[in-house]
Amino acid sequence: MNGPISRDRPSPGRVHVVGAGLAGLSAALRLGKLGRPVTLYEAAAQAGGRCRSYVDAKLERSIDNGNHLLLAANTAALDFVAEIGASDTLAQPARTAFPFLDLASGESWTVAPSSGPIPWWIFSAAKRIPGTAAGDYLAAWKLAFAGADDTVADCLGDRGPLWERFWVPLTIAALNTHPREASARLLWMVVRESFAKGAAACRPFIAKQGLSQTFVDPALAAIRAQGGKIAFGRRLRALSFEGERVAALDFGEQRVAVAPGETVVIALPPAGAADLLPGLQAPRDARPIVNAHIRLPEGATPRRRLAPDLPILGLVGGATDWLFLRGDVVSLTASAAEELAERPAEEVAALLWRDTAQALGLSPDLSPGLDPQAAPVIRIIKEKRATLAQTPAALKLRPGPRTRWTNLALAGDWTDTGYPATIESAVRSGAAAARLLVTP
Ligand SMILES: Cc1cc2nc3c(=O)[nH]c(=O)nc-3n(C[C@H](O)[C@H](O)[C@H](O)COP(=O)(O)OP(=O)(O)OC[C@H]3O[C@@H](n4cnc5c(N)ncnc54)[C@H](O)[C@@H]3O)c2cc1C
Repeated sequence: MNGPISRDRPSPGRVHVVGAGLAGLSAALRLGKLGRPVTLYEAAAQAGGRCRSYVDAKLERSIDNGNHLLLAANTAALDFVAEIGASDTLAQPARTAFPFLDLASGESWTVAPSSGPIPWWIFSAAKRIPGTAAGDYLAAWKLAFAGADDTVADCLGDRGPLWERFWVPLTIAALNTHPREASARLLWMVVRESFAKGAAACRPFIAKQGLSQTFVDPALAAIRAQGGKIAFGRRLRALSFEGERVAALDFGEQRVAVAPGETVVIALPPAGAADLLPGLQAPRDARPIVNAHIRLPEGATPRRRLAPDLPILGLVGGATDWLFLRGDVVSLTASAAEELAERPAEEVAALLWRDTAQALGLSPDLSPGLDPQAAPVIRIIKEKRATLAQTPAALKLRPGPRTRWTNLALAGDWTDTGYPATIESAVRSGAAAARLLVTP
């Protein structure tokens, strides 16, 4: 390790938080609240990690790296947003309803859970998903008794309209892993906390303006208001250990001593944490999410109207799963998109434009490559390591916040929070790391 050791202003009790994704932000916020001095280090020039917004030069719009949705059941995430004073930046619909369109058959339906735990909606043919019977849904109880090694398909089979139109979209949205390999136990946890409780727990929330405006910028402001320091452009390259404790953080050009009484939170993705911490077992297997952001040509008027209070549409039978509309930008998400992520961006753009034009009822004349005035402008973002693969085998490798070093705790959506690798898990992991360091 090179570089001068920075010993200026050592602070008793200072916590060095590495990684300014939502896990790191959550840890820093909680530690500041508990009165600890905090320094937050981030390799990138901005915070937010896998949940951020930026101004895209091609689209000339601020876009999110990918569509993100919260449910009311995500109580830690919503509390975090409330704590940083950003609740009014979230949009929620007047009623819980998820509209869907089958791009292959043209059929559309709305999944609207009933108001209590009894799913009355599945007993009404008009409210059920087309092609399904009430008995199909009742098979969900099998998830409740899933073994640790069972996949969703092991419990529910892997065919039929309910599989195609409900279990596949739900599993890849919640776990970013195809139900043929996704953990049945983890999906049950999602179902138990949301659908099994009824409409209020399933209410969806999206960021009105952008992810950074809801989750990141207000968190940074709150951390700074607590006296926290934030250092961008600091990539942690190595750690020095002295016996059972971390003694220094090596950021290449700068080396930061970790004085006795000071502690460290490593809030990095699993591969990064495992590379830095000898002997750490971490689930390295990841699954991609592909997003297309499409600026519609001027004057393009979608014939399909989306609910103005929550302009989203679930898609089956095409290449993507969700469509979000914000102003003149349509954003599509394909989760567990291993095959799509390997294709060239132009091919993905053409495919997802086809889905968009069909889903929104746009004129097919508006085509990429034609008259530039009439052409949509498309940005493809491939997040190749969007989340860990939430398979039974990988989930067994999730560590808790405690490590073999007495002054170091782990955070990150991939750690063992009991929740899928989501904003909820990231926020919970940060709070758990903070708790561990303050009350070991
Ligand atoms: C396209 C997409 C869609 C998603 N949709 C949803 C959704 O709808 N709902 C939902 O709840 N969740 C969703 N997620 C998941 C959610 O974004 C993540 O679970 C969450 O953001 C993870 O936060 P984190 O802090 O654990 O990790 P990260 O966000 O990965 O944060 C880690 C941070 O550490 C930094 N870093 C890495 N290495 C170093 C280093 N050596 N030194 C210093 N800093 C370093 C990184 O730059 C990053 O800022 C989605 C994710 C993606 C990619």
